Amino acid sequence: MVFGVAGVPTNFKGKFKNLFEWLGERNLNGYEIQCVYGFKISEENKRIILENQKNGFYFSIHAPYYINLGSLNAQVVARSKANMKEGIELAKSINVTRIIFHPGGGHENTENGRKLAIKQLIEAVNEFTSEIDMGNVLLYPEIGGKTASLGSLDEIIEICKNCKYCYPCIDIAHLHAREIGSLTSKEIIKSKLQKIKDAIPDKFEKIHFHAYTINYGEKGEIKHLHFGDTMPDGSVGMPNLDDFISVLKEMNVDPYIISEALDSQELSAQYMHDLYIK
Ligand SMILES: [Zn+2]
Repeated sequence: MVFGVAGVPTNFKGKFKNLFEWLGERNLNGYEIQCVYGFKISEENKRIILENQKNGFYFSIHAPYYINLGSLNAQVVARSKANMKEGIELAKSINVTRIIFHPGGGHENTENGRKLAIKQLIEAVNEFTSEIDMGNVLLYPEIGGKTASLGSLDEIIEICKNCKYCYPCIDIAHLHAREIGSLTSKEIIKSKLQKIKDAIPDKFEKIHFHAYTINYGEKGEIKHLHFGDTMPDGSVGMPNLDDFISVLKEMNVDPYIISEALDSQELSAQYMHDLYIK
């Protein structure tokens, strides 16, 4: 059971080394390292991470935003492959077993264009993962929040089916946003998870979740919402985190959930943790 935050919460004002005590006081034991501008972690922070693993903290790494294995530009793909290899070495050096990455964009946004981009991404991943020692590192392609980005639920399943080292990162807010508000009931959330379980049963247990509420428009994601914020029309923030947690309990999923709620990740993560153990 892992509940955590992505990056240093804005409400925490201390030093990085003191963050974990603060998270622990909130019943949180997960931290997603935001390498969104490059796979780099200072030596001091590496030591802090290793130390806190001994205290029961779980760390994952979010890959840089510029990684784009689905790009039409061969140079971008080659560079992304090299970057991913660096990320895997970095993860191994600090005993991190989950790297989250965005499948990318820049392809032709047609059915055929998307198919080609996913096929290319699968080939690229299978290439670089066969060229190095993966250790215990697994790669998590994440559901994209915008309708045009790669990473629909079907595409994530397709990647995980075809890449030995890929496991699903199900960002339920992104899923809700890119499907223009699809997760309107507990039954629908359950059907999405069931679909994953049926398609890739051996990978279901290690799903990585991102969960928070989100505002969206006709092109998908607009903005992550603050924990407790209502939607612009005054209705409760969606997707409904109570429904989400209750589905996990019904399906006996051991949760690994990172919150990305705007400026309030720890509140939302603690809320989900408390609901889960109730
Ligand atoms: Zn992400």
